[in-house]
Amino acid sequence: MNRSKSAAAYARACQVTPGGVNSPARAFGAVGGSPIVIARAAGPYLHDVDGNRYLDFVGSWGPMILGHAHPAVVEATIAAVRNGSSYGAPSEPETELAELVVQAIPSVEMVRFVSSGTEATMSALRLARGYTGRDLVIKFAGCYHGHVDALLVSAGSSALTHGVPNSPGVPKGCTDDTLVLRYNDTTALRDVFRANGDRIAAVILEPVVGNMGLVPPGEEFRKELRALTHRYGALLIYDEVMTGFRLAYGGAQEVLGDTPDLTTLGKIIGGGYPVGAYGGRADVMKKVMPAGPVFQAGTLSGNPVAMAAGIATLKELKAHPPYERLDRMGADLEAGITRAATGAGVPFRLNRVGSMWTLFFTATPVTDLDSARTSDTKRFGKFFWEMMDRGVYLPCSQFEAAFLSAAMTDDHVTQTVAAAREALAAVAAG
Ligand SMILES: *Cc1c(COP(=O)(O)O)cnc(C)c1O
Repeated sequence: MNRSKSAAAYARACQVTPGGVNSPARAFGAVGGSPIVIARAAGPYLHDVDGNRYLDFVGSWGPMILGHAHPAVVEATIAAVRNGSSYGAPSEPETELAELVVQAIPSVEMVRFVSSGTEATMSALRLARGYTGRDLVIKFAGCYHGHVDALLVSAGSSALTHGVPNSPGVPKGCTDDTLVLRYNDTTALRDVFRANGDRIAAVILEPVVGNMGLVPPGEEFRKELRALTHRYGALLIYDEVMTGFRLAYGGAQEVLGDTPDLTTLGKIIGGGYPVGAYGGRADVMKKVMPAGPVFQAGTLSGNPVAMAAGIATLKELKAHPPYERLDRMGADLEAGITRAATGAGVPFRLNRVGSMWTLFFTATPVTDLDSARTSDTKRFGKFFWEMMDRGVYLPCSQFEAAFLSAAMTDDHVTQTVAAAREALAAVAAG
């Protein structure tokens, strides 16, 4: 496969942009080589500047659940642009998208739109602290909540991949009030609440983790999270920036049957445009300015073009829910890759929830960051490039979740399994 135009375009970008990318996960740092540079995308496919076509299991890292350039989203967005692209004053599409979110997620009684997932978690944290009058926050190693200073400790996603659990530039004071626990470790959770319960403002987590590779939560862990936060008066924040409208229309909390106090959203709710949101209990949300004293603002928040893309995406997901079909295709993919990896004799763990999955190159069950780290990332890198050569674009790191999209069909699953069979044989051969 010729990728020379991508290599040239990337080299050019490196002259004027740090590392040639505007977000580090896009550089192929963890797998070696240079990233493909995208010319356009349609349905389940990415097309690079060399004219190669890839079946896309990244979907812009989550947002593109309908596939690329979905006609309903394209039309709604073009119509919105013709009405002007930003007002800095209230507009009805903001309320329409808010109503869709509130109807979709029962725990979200009110919602505030921002422009990224990072902004959503940062604002939810400030609100939780403002509401409780407490400073301490619990997060879990391997969960990624955007590049919020206070949460950039043992963060997953690209921070983990690049081996920078604590980024330079984050003052110690910013993370002093952040307690980091092991995901799925119920005992540690109990201990930290027993010792500090009356000082804890919030616990934030990915209810199903995508950012250390796919890791589901344990039943007891979830039950205890809710029980302890209730008992000690701390807020439970589900970061559903990735899982919201992904695992079900009502997010991971619908699948799990959970009721957090606050929820953060992003990715899918923007339909491919920059949108984030935080919402939850009305009594808490009413503390946000101007209803309450907790400051949070944004010039482009609730942008009408982005709202139109979000509304079109959510309406499509509501009218034609893809979730059962995505889960069935996910199960077929899981079964096929499991057969292929077993046949190749490669030690592996395949974690999957609905349309999110990760093939870990380890024999150890992956339930937290430490077990995820037992993966053979060299083998992952080999697997990644073998799949690229067969036209399948996977996340370029072992510690990320892959996504099926509703634009995919059973044929795409069959093709991917066939590609994986050859790729895993090549991995086994070394
Ligand atoms: C992507 C992601 C974020 C950050 O969102 P950005 O829009 O990249 O700032 C936060 N939390 C989770 C769980 C995410 O997957």
